[in-house]
Amino acid sequence: MPRPLVATIDITAMRHNLMQAKHCARGAKVWAVVKANAYGHGLARAVQGFSDADGFALIEFDNAVRLREMGWRKPILLLEGFFEQNDLHTASNYELQVTVHSSEQVDMLEHTNLPNWVDVHLKMNSGMNRLGFLPDIYQQTYKRLRAIDTVRNISLMNHFANGEDADNPALPLAQQLQRFRAASVNLPGERSLSNSAITLLHPEVDSDWIRPGIMLYGGTPGIKTAEEFGLRPAMTLHSELIGLQNVAAGESVGYGSRFVADKPMRIGVVACGYADGYPRHAPTGTPIIVNECRTRIVGRVSMDMMTVDLTEIPAAQVGSKVILWGEGLPIDEVANAAGTISYELMCALAARVRIVER
Ligand SMILES: *Cc1c(COP(=O)(O)O)cnc(C)c1O
Repeated sequence: MPRPLVATIDITAMRHNLMQAKHCARGAKVWAVVKANAYGHGLARAVQGFSDADGFALIEFDNAVRLREMGWRKPILLLEGFFEQNDLHTASNYELQVTVHSSEQVDMLEHTNLPNWVDVHLKMNSGMNRLGFLPDIYQQTYKRLRAIDTVRNISLMNHFANGEDADNPALPLAQQLQRFRAASVNLPGERSLSNSAITLLHPEVDSDWIRPGIMLYGGTPGIKTAEEFGLRPAMTLHSELIGLQNVAAGESVGYGSRFVADKPMRIGVVACGYADGYPRHAPTGTPIIVNECRTRIVGRVSMDMMTVDLTEIPAAQVGSKVILWGEGLPIDEVANAAGTISYELMCALAARVRIVER
């Protein structure tokens, strides 16, 4: 008997979410973002679910090459670009488009003898202060790239810090957009600006290509729930109860005795812990579904197990079905209870978790 913990990946939901992104894109082309093993869903499944995307965007060179080997012929974009000269050869050989965000990368392009051209995406730092060129050197950097004979197309790229919090006084979205537009004015090339938050919440941002990630997997980037955005969960993490305890009032549960029963309670043990990717810092009260009833986890999440409150679910027994997140329990709710975001939960799904497709 295999361990009952399984992640079910719903390829149809992925397909559906891509259609939603395309609908929001209003004619713009779509980079389906598949970094971090397609946010934990698996690269091969992304190829199935997102076959109608116009391109794939990711971080990892090895996975970009794998996409080509799997037969993906449409564009591929590396979102952090290249790290060493050898990457540039790989990009050129496999026709991988690369982000250029630093002057060191421009130097490398100037000094690498490539047998073939590459397409590049010139990234602006319009205020996020992570990657990219400041607006005042954007045009001159464009000219530097234009002068390199192995550089073919140059696209213009921007990333927003506050798509789900557009009025953030430290960096309003409108200010970032204005900086991008002003500094890129008159430059030829396709614009690529929008992640999921911008795609769903800010149709005023005009982008030739959008770059949705989380929405494709059925997570919300914020403001509204995934369901309200018409998104469907791609990943459902489910397991079973493998043990039961009747606990008297005053007894504690689990490591550190962090939870103490204030009345007689029935406790269930679920086969899923932090070594499976469930967040260890999820506190007592984090929602979970047992036997189709919503309840809460209690006590510390341990490596392979967690404990749940069955006091109101008398029918629950060993073997009862448990849903940790996904269908019936939005991953965003679990993430929120654990003080994180759905992205982190998806990406942290551990290699030991069995995956089945639906
Ligand atoms: C990860 C990433 C995205 C996708 O972001 P979501 O919030 O998941 O939609 C888009 N663009 C870049 C540059 C990224 O790194």
